[in-house]
Amino acid sequence: MSRFKCFTIEQFSAYVDEIVISRTIKEIHIHHTWIPDYEDFYILLEDDPASVYRIIEGMYIWHTKNNGWKDIGQHISIDPEGGIWTGRDFNLSPASIKGRNTYGFAIENIGNFDKKKDTMTQEQLSSLIAVINIIIKKIGIIPTKTTIVYHNQYADKSCPGTAFIKKKKLISLINNTGKEFETMTGTKTLEEITNKDIDKHYVNIAKELQQFLNIQMGANLKIDGIFGKKTLSFLKEIIAFTGTSSIKKILKI
Ligand SMILES: [Zn+2]
Repeated sequence: MSRFKCFTIEQFSAYVDEIVISRTIKEIHIHHTWIPDYEDFYILLEDDPASVYRIIEGMYIWHTKNNGWKDIGQHISIDPEGGIWTGRDFNLSPASIKGRNTYGFAIENIGNFDKKKDTMTQEQLSSLIAVINIIIKKIGIIPTKTTIVYHNQYADKSCPGTAFIKKKKLISLINNTGKEFETMTGTKTLEEITNKDIDKHYVNIAKELQQFLNIQMGANLKIDGIFGKKTLSFLKEIIAFTGTSSIKKILKI
């Protein structure tokens, strides 16, 4: 049994909800492992999925025995399948970037993202974006080029890789995911939003809108997620009132 746990995004979110982070964190540090790379990971996965934890254990051993650190260096490692692995206690500074560890939170992306090496999977990227979002929300910082730090900004290294996703793009993805609701509604027409046959996700949007209309307009709607006559008429009214059909503006998110 390994002390390191592997979470899905949902599990990680629930885990972070439950913990207290008492340390001040001002920067999210982004690394790649370089070694182990995708090949190392997939050899283990294909041989025996239950053995994948050895990737993290291997880093732990390297960091403690070889580097002489008190624990694995990073707080989180993200594997190519999107698995989110725990590491060092979040309330302890990482061994991440020389001179910047005190307020750092370290994420290692398993893989070698230098040019012509590994190409990051969508699963890994999604988990990276989710982890950053969950952590920055928890500690109350926003993603900027200052708060999101690539190792190579402060070290003569290519880390997190010469072909790693550009920071500007990463920040825009973080912002988009953080405002999933806005993205869902803001780009759609009223007809599209209110077409309840499309996706059950729209039921939640409808519920949010009903709640909003009750608070803002005293609509007294039943929060049932159905765009009935009454909901629609209040929705049209508030759209006319605010002079915009962009739901995100109405909801001020
Ligand atoms: Zn690094």
